[in-house]
Amino acid sequence: MSEHPPTLYIDGAWRDARERARFDVHDPADGAVIGSMSDAGAADASAAIQAADAAQASWAATSIGERAALLRGLHAAVVASTEELAQLITAESGKPLAESRGEVGYGAQFLSWFADQATQLTHGAHYTDPAGRIRILTQRKPVGPALLITPWNFPLAMITRKLAPALAAGCTAVVKPAAQTPLTAVRLVELLVEQGVPAGVVNLLTSTRAREVSTAVFDSGAVRKVSFTGSTGVGSELLRACAARVVNSSMELGGNAPLIVFDDAGPDVVDEIMIAKLRNSGQSCIAANRILAQDAVAGDLVATMVERFSRLTVGDGRDPGVDVGPLIDDGAVRKVGALVDGAVAAGATIAYRAGAPTERGHFYPPTILVDVPAGCAIHREEIFGPVATVSRFDTERDAIALANDTEAGLAAYVFTADLDRALRVGSALDAGIVGVNRGFVSSAAAPFGGVKTSGLGREGGLHGLDEYLETQYLSLPVG
Ligand code: NAP
Repeated sequence: MSEHPPTLYIDGAWRDARERARFDVHDPADGAVIGSMSDAGAADASAAIQAADAAQASWAATSIGERAALLRGLHAAVVASTEELAQLITAESGKPLAESRGEVGYGAQFLSWFADQATQLTHGAHYTDPAGRIRILTQRKPVGPALLITPWNFPLAMITRKLAPALAAGCTAVVKPAAQTPLTAVRLVELLVEQGVPAGVVNLLTSTRAREVSTAVFDSGAVRKVSFTGSTGVGSELLRACAARVVNSSMELGGNAPLIVFDDAGPDVVDEIMIAKLRNSGQSCIAANRILAQDAVAGDLVATMVERFSRLTVGDGRDPGVDVGPLIDDGAVRKVGALVDGAVAAGATIAYRAGAPTERGHFYPPTILVDVPAGCAIHREEIFGPVATVSRFDTERDAIALANDTEAGLAAYVFTADLDRALRVGSALDAGIVGVNRGFVSSAAAPFGGVKTSGLGREGGLHGLDEYLETQYLSLPVG
């Protein structure tokens, strides 16, 4: 017996990894070891996808009501466990507790939303072709066993955003959470098991060997769906594997969100910028990466931002009053540092830099940069840290051109009092999500996803269930 409990959940049982391999989970605020997990390899991944495959037919045959009831039960359990889950999210990801509580609420929304959306499955059709010779019957069917791979920045919500529609549609699943944040995933699956989820329907692989795990899942030939949230590079690699086996895929990848402030923007624009920029210490795929301010208001905007940044408390996310927690690891701190240093070396000016703990943990000081020269990496890449850059523009046309000057296309934000302009500019932006006078756009009821290199498909909203469904056409004679 291992001194630590097993954390792989395969075919209805908690198991150790085949070779009994384990890995530690660290608290990004102080580096302390906060958990020991089973480290799944290829053999465990094969067992998990085989279990999902074996359970697929019986899960697909369950009634919509049964599947919705499971999701509603899990929703109630997650809500009842808000404090416990929030503590886990903060311990392993570093985000301030208030934000972790918010994530639990957001993550739970997907469970109730897709319990309700499951009723869409009755929306088949019955009609005849124009010549009146064929009776056409369509029905929606689950696509089949799904591999769900999630990142560390939203350890709960990124799982429920995939798992809830998969289960609602009648798909079984293998869940592979990020190696840095598996504790929340384990607790979520425990809650699911308490709801009586049948063996094989949900399988969990905690692992540091992501490529080995996904390769084994592909090699099984049983996986019919891959839903991935993470970096564009890994998403592109997974798309190649999906192409090789013609596997249905949904990709939620990196962003590079512009946030446009016109000269008639309302007085609360900085409140919204603080949310769009600093949620999860800037480690969000929809974080405002490039703030673009119209000439007439740019100076005042920077001055107000400096004042607001100077009031931020940076520290351990568990401590009351902390606004900005640590970054996920030392590599993240170095990457943000390199982007800022590169911009400064190219001529950018630091308008403000806060203090941050240095004795331990992975902290980066909240920083505001202005006069960033065109072409700097900080404008081409996701910053993924508490660093705001503010650039100026003259006309609406310039703003649109600057905003769209990126390969990514996930989120964008527009601030203006003119509704016509908001609609015109919002429509002209190459982005899957546009926040108008809002810095917080996440909702289970809204379609979330990107264009260009930010991904394929939509999660949540009225479209999220479609990602896990196929349409079957039955052709019958007209009697
Ligand atoms: P990542 O390195 O791509 O990792 C994401 C997940 O993929 C993790 O579970 C990771 O496992 C796994 N993975 C890594 N290499 C793999 C491989 N070769 N094959 C299969 N799986 C593999 O991304 P991240 O650094 O965790 O997350 C940050 C990125 O996610 C950012 O670019 C952010 O914008 C994006 N993101 C996008 C959205 C969205 O909805 N569009 C939402 C949140 C985050 P390990 O943990 O073991 O490496």
